[in-house]
Amino acid sequence: MTNQPGVPSFPHRHLLAIEGLQPSEITFLLDEAEQWVDAGRRARKHDDRLQGLTQINAFFENSTRTLLSFEIAGKRLGADVVNLAAGASSLKKGETLLDTALTLNAMRPDVIVIRHESSGAVALIAEKVDCPVLNAGDGRHEHPTQALLDALTIRRRKGGLEGLRVAICGDILHSRVARSNFHLLTALGAEIRAVAPPTLMPFDVERFGVTPFTDMDAGLEGADVVMMLRLQLERMDGAYVPSTREYFRTFGLTRSRLAAAKPDVLVMHPGPMNRGVEIDSAVADDIQRSAIAEQVEMGVAVRMACLDVLTRERRGDSR
Ligand code: ASP
Repeated sequence: MTNQPGVPSFPHRHLLAIEGLQPSEITFLLDEAEQWVDAGRRARKHDDRLQGLTQINAFFENSTRTLLSFEIAGKRLGADVVNLAAGASSLKKGETLLDTALTLNAMRPDVIVIRHESSGAVALIAEKVDCPVLNAGDGRHEHPTQALLDALTIRRRKGGLEGLRVAICGDILHSRVARSNFHLLTALGAEIRAVAPPTLMPFDVERFGVTPFTDMDAGLEGADVVMMLRLQLERMDGAYVPSTREYFRTFGLTRSRLAAAKPDVLVMHPGPMNRGVEIDSAVADDIQRSAIAEQVEMGVAVRMACLDVLTRERRGDSR
């Protein structure tokens, strides 16, 4: 789709969610990320278009790959990247979210990346600061760059998303990854199946335009892509599954269970993986089908694209 002259291809100040984005805006971000995949495969990876800009990564909830990925992305673009780690923050000392926002803002950053355990907290901070904000995961709500990197991975492997059958399996109830993917993949024309035990299936899941399955074997039937989710024990306030062993028996992705999917099925997982709980090692390490390492690679490219696009206006750069 071509854009009208004078109308920016991504007319948003922040990236807080996939919900509400136009398919053309999503495709624009994915197209922008392609150049950074190529750049990342070269020995010299720097571009420096964010030189002199300050990027704060404020992570109020633990993270390994997302924090590292945003740090690498910012550094490859030449930004001065500063990380604020959860344990060290004043939030733990009782500071309110708004005071945290004002403090971050007073450092005059040019872009802030935020992860927070509460749904909606990132949007709240975004209202109080003078620079673009990227949501790196807020509670169970959304994780937009994860969905973008998943889409980029699928698009590169399958040539497109339209008409693909994607089974998103596991702890859907607690998963921001599932929510962002529901919005993105349906917007780009994929057929989505939400596969989970009844206790881990949101009661209103159909409002996302997805088809629920409480039987794993039926849900995997004819799938082009199987996306596994981690059992998010830290978000559970009771017993949602009888035991992890029982869960693996009924919802774990094994080779024999995967036989119901298409022969060229792509297996994905956002990480961190619990081997032997939601996925068997033989599937996770199957180099023909598993795209798990590729997802991590695409993550850096997608985050470079988002950081670049969101800071264009303040850089006075239309690139
Ligand atoms: N890393 C993803 C997230 O932050 C998935 C997970 O934690 O299971 O939501």
